[in-house]
Amino acid sequence: MSVPAPHELIRFAKERYHAFTEIAETFVDAEFHFSAKDNLCANGFQARAGSAILEGYVPPFDATPVHRLKTAGGQLVGKTTMDEFGFGTFCVNSAHGIPLNPFDIQRSCGGSSGGAGAAACLIPGHIALGVSTGGSISGPVSFCGVVGLSPTYGRVSRYGLIDYGNSLDKVGLLSRSATLVREHFQTIAGPDPKDPTSCAQPQLPTKGRMPDSLAVPKEALANLDPAVSKGFQEAVGRIQEMGVKVEEISMPSLRYAMPAYYILATSEASTNLARYCGMRFGRREEELNQHFNDFFSGVRSQSFGDEAKRRILLGTFCRMVGFRSRYYLKSLAVRQMLIEEYRKVFEDHQMVLTPTMPFLPPRFEDIRKMTPLEIYGADFLTIPPNLTGMPHVSLPCAYQQGLPVGMQLVSDHWREMDLLEMSSEWEGHFPYRFPEVGP
Ligand code: GLN
Repeated sequence: MSVPAPHELIRFAKERYHAFTEIAETFVDAEFHFSAKDNLCANGFQARAGSAILEGYVPPFDATPVHRLKTAGGQLVGKTTMDEFGFGTFCVNSAHGIPLNPFDIQRSCGGSSGGAGAAACLIPGHIALGVSTGGSISGPVSFCGVVGLSPTYGRVSRYGLIDYGNSLDKVGLLSRSATLVREHFQTIAGPDPKDPTSCAQPQLPTKGRMPDSLAVPKEALANLDPAVSKGFQEAVGRIQEMGVKVEEISMPSLRYAMPAYYILATSEASTNLARYCGMRFGRREEELNQHFNDFFSGVRSQSFGDEAKRRILLGTFCRMVGFRSRYYLKSLAVRQMLIEEYRKVFEDHQMVLTPTMPFLPPRFEDIRKMTPLEIYGADFLTIPPNLTGMPHVSLPCAYQQGLPVGMQLVSDHWREMDLLEMSSEWEGHFPYRFPEVGP
């Protein structure tokens, strides 16, 4: 069987798997092809961040990571499907279709960068720009059986990114191989005068291909689906065979990360979404000929999805006078406590190792039965490194019932290279499997 050309696979990924919301009209013979999550602005493509409220918005500029990849010789071939503004864990909250898992189309790709996960899995050599606020790179990476890096907060410019939570958002990369992620990470990383929160911190030299010692918090091993537990334990065994010490430790603050995250993230999101009211930002269908309160409410009621509305309510409530110190400020304290707890672990171990998601990619019919709180709870392993701004990778570590299981490695701030070294080494020991599907 002949191998399909990349553009055939890109079309196939859009039409059959809904990985893309929009693709390039022509494909050129570029050095490499890449995609951008739909919340990253790119000249000539709509940037709707998965929301109906941004229908028709075509930015006249490129987000910095997009610009840098283009300058390095890449062609932007499409925008990938995502949960509205990044609000979700299964990529079912998009106004532009639901991406289907390449391992089993009855199942979720994970979210919110679900389309990026599917594209990275379906198209060999493809590099997908994703964004993580609380796990939106690691989650899809785990469910789609690929490799993904969420860098340290501030490592990659956020210029041109449609914000979810400004103190949490990080642009990262997804692909079939750590080598590709590493190569393109060097291209997109580094300070940018257009984003004052981007940092000039140098890439720290690695201490070797493999760490001496990894820590597995016992709190991360509770409440796992047995298939994930089994796959993860097998992976730990393999890592030990590679000469790495793996030690069980305790990180008691991990249990506060999820509630603190949902307070901080929704607080920031609720202020970020205030601008979409049909005046300067946001689609409007009628002229402003009524009281502005009614007009704004009309635009917002019509175009925001249910999850966006839920988060506006929650975030606004948490920031209200009288509740701020009880919720918002307390969550900031939890965030600091967690940073200190990780730092303590890093005194004796180079990285923290956990599974990425607590269960295998779920079926859409099962997702429909979940409550919002159950859905938020699915992020309990991916939120901690995101809340602390620490870099992390997710890698396939086992296969159970024909589906991939992911493991997540977290290192101290600015130590992405350690993670990528270990990822390359792992790839040499554990052959990845990809579904045999194609046009
Ligand atoms: N599932 C998390 C949320 O809904 C994380 C999503 C993200 O990182 N954008 O907030």
